Parts: sequence; C-alpha cells; structure tokens
Amino acid sequence: MELPEVAVEELKENPFIVAQQQCDDCADIRNVDPGVREIIREPMQETHVSIPVRMDDGSIRVFKGFRVIHSTALGPAKGGIRFHPDETADTVRALAAWMTWKCSLLELPLGGGKGGVICNPKEMSAGELERLSRGYVDRVWQVIGPDKDIPAPDVYTNPQIMAWMMDQYSKIAGKNQFGVITGKPLRIGGSSGRHDATARGGLYVLREAARNCRLNLRGATLAIQGFGNAGSYVASLARELFGCCVVAVSDSRGAVYNSIGLDPQLLGEHKRVTGSVVDYPGTERISQAELLELDVDVLCPCSLENVITAGNASKIRAGIVAEFANGPTTPEADSILYDKGVHLLPDFLCNAGGVTVSYFEMVQNMNMFYWEEKEIHARLDKKMTAAYDSVLDISREYKVNMRRAAYIVAVRRVAEAMQLRGWV
Ligand code: GLU
Repeated sequence: MELPEVAVEELKENPFIVAQQQCDDCADIRNVDPGVREIIREPMQETHVSIPVRMDDGSIRVFKGFRVIHSTALGPAKGGIRFHPDETADTVRALAAWMTWKCSLLELPLGGGKGGVICNPKEMSAGELERLSRGYVDRVWQVIGPDKDIPAPDVYTNPQIMAWMMDQYSKIAGKNQFGVITGKPLRIGGSSGRHDATARGGLYVLREAARNCRLNLRGATLAIQGFGNAGSYVASLARELFGCCVVAVSDSRGAVYNSIGLDPQLLGEHKRVTGSVVDYPGTERISQAELLELDVDVLCPCSLENVITAGNASKIRAGIVAEFANGPTTPEADSILYDKGVHLLPDFLCNAGGVTVSYFEMVQNMNMFYWEEKEIHARLDKKMTAAYDSVLDISREYKVNMRRAAYIVAVRRVAEAMQLRGWV
C-alpha cells in the first residue's frame, strides 16, 4: 500500500506544545498553585521582527526573527539565538521556557529567553551574516540588555556573531556593553572555558550518572548524534576526561560507525575539510536512525528536537541517554524509555553547562576581572554535580522519571520567586 505523502514537519511534535505538556505534568504531580501554572504555560513577552539585509549580489532580502522572554521571575532573561532555516515562533517559545527551567535548576539568578532567525547560514557569506547579525540587534535592542535579557550562541551561531551583536548594541548604547551578550571571543570579554562548556558540563553529569548506574566510563561505548559545537566537544572530551570509546557519530548528512572506536580529533579534521563526518576512513556508513538504535552504553543526542520519538524509543538500546540537545525526546518517548529502565539525563540538566559558564562570563564582565580556566571548570563541576544530585533525589522521592524530577525542582524555585514577588 502506498502511504500518502505527508510533510515531515507535520509528523513532528510541536516543541511548544511539548513544553506546555511538560509543565502541566509537573503541575499535576506537585500541586502547583493554579496561578503559577497558568503563567508558566505562556511566554511573558515576544518580539517578532523583519530584518532587511543587503545581500552580496546587491539585492535586499528580509529575514524573520524572534526574541522571546519566557520568565524573568528569577532574574533577567538568558538564552541563545539560533540561526536556522526551520526556525519557528513555537520552537523559540519552547526553547525560552526550557531556559527558564535550566537557569532555575542550576540555581542561576536568571530567567529564560531565546531568539531565532529564519535563515540558512551555510548558504550565506561572512559579510551577509555580519549584516544580518547587526540588523537583528537594530530590531531587538530595546528588549535586550545586560540587566534585561542577555543572548548567547546556539545552533549555527558562534562567538564571531556574538562579537558583531555586542558591537552593534554598544554602538547604539554609545558605550561598551560587553555584558549584553555571552559566548563572546576571549579578547572582547569572553570567558575561558565557554567554548566547550555545554559538552563539559554534561559530561560531569554523565560521570555522576555512571557512578549511580555502576557503569565504568573507561572504555564505555558512546554514540553521538550531531557533530556541531556540543557533539564534537562531547566526543573529544569524553575520551580525554574518562577514556570513553566513541563508536558512532552522525551529522546532517549521515552517520559513521566503527566498533573499536573513532578518533574524535581526526574526525573533526575530516569534517572541517569535507564538510561532513561521512566517508571518514575506516568507518562503516550507517543511517542516522541506525545510530540511535546501536547497542551502546551511552547515547548522546546533540543536535535538534524530536530525535527520540514514540516511533523509535522502544528500539533504543543505550542504558543512559544524555540529552546535550534541547528537546530531543518527545513526552511519549520519555515514558517508553523510563519503562525500559533507561537512565535519561534531561536536556535542561545535561546541557546546562553552556548557560552556567555564560553566567560566569556575565559575572566576570561586571567585575572586569577574569578567571582562569581551571577555576571555571571547578565551579562548573560543582554546579552540575549539585543539580544532578537534586534531580536524582527528587526522582527517587516521587518515583518519577528524571525529566519530571528536574521540572519539580526547577518549577518549585520559580513558583517561590513568583509568590515572593507577589505575582500570584
Ligand atoms: N544556547 C545555550 C542553551 O541553550 C546557551 C545559552 C546561554 O549561554 O545563555 O543553553
């Protein structure tokens, strides 16, 4: 029988509906105040903009962009900006909400926000990207600011883009404003240790999880889905810090596998030269779907949303799933994994290392005094370990999966702040 053609988009879950469902679930378990429950389902503020950019061929193209603040109950909003062709207002809304829970869980004095621009940076020149980055700030400068909402890098944005945005904001403000954005290059107010913070922070959590699951990480097998900023550092640091064996890696073009392990550094070099991990010498080509179902100790989703779904969750064989991406697992898949006994490290715990070091960057910018990398690592380790412990305790106490436990911890703190401020 021929199946009707359905656009892939229609089959995917809407991340904002997922985020709302997760909040509702948590509210049901915890008897959250009805006022809090209503407020946290929706973003506090949304800005939608159109950004005209002069392209290299002289034409003008107009790009759609967003900046969403989900909550400022705990402090100014914080969260990255994505440049992605499939960006939507709903994705940004979901990601902003997850930032609220992430900052709360890590006990950062920050709220949650997120930005996005619908564009394909892979098809744009450096000049076009610079004009787009500056144009974005021209449109959103009134709603961002060092004590209002502080953006950072995310999917397909990087320190150079942060530098242009900080510079544009500083020009508008008429003074240097390093604190308006994090993830900047080191020379202009960046923090040491920010480049690999998402991966490193998640690996500290993985270390604790492995201890809890009695898994020896030396020689443990890892499959890594996505080889961008998070995934490439997860691969190299997992090997360097713990002696893990990375057996499979994928990117948007395909996946490669070698049962005795890959060299993440050399693989990174291959990707820089060829644009993909595919065809890396000495590996077998497998499909992206096969990578997720490999018999490995740890599976690390490191790219986008909706990767582990009701369709494939029952086939996951990894004992630990470490979500370095935001939103990779759908709620239905969550339940399936929990029933199978998979120890899941939820996104807003596992990938919180990035925003944690962003917070350290803000503190350093404010004090005009910069810390050494080893101090950043020690502080990051302490925060990530404490967050894991608090989630594990609650998951045992309430007999719920790790994501629900993380929600319980994070929502409780935001609710307290809202009550203290008299919002409810
Ligand atoms: N974009 C990263 C995240 O999703 C980092 C955010 C930040 O540093 O503010 O957590």
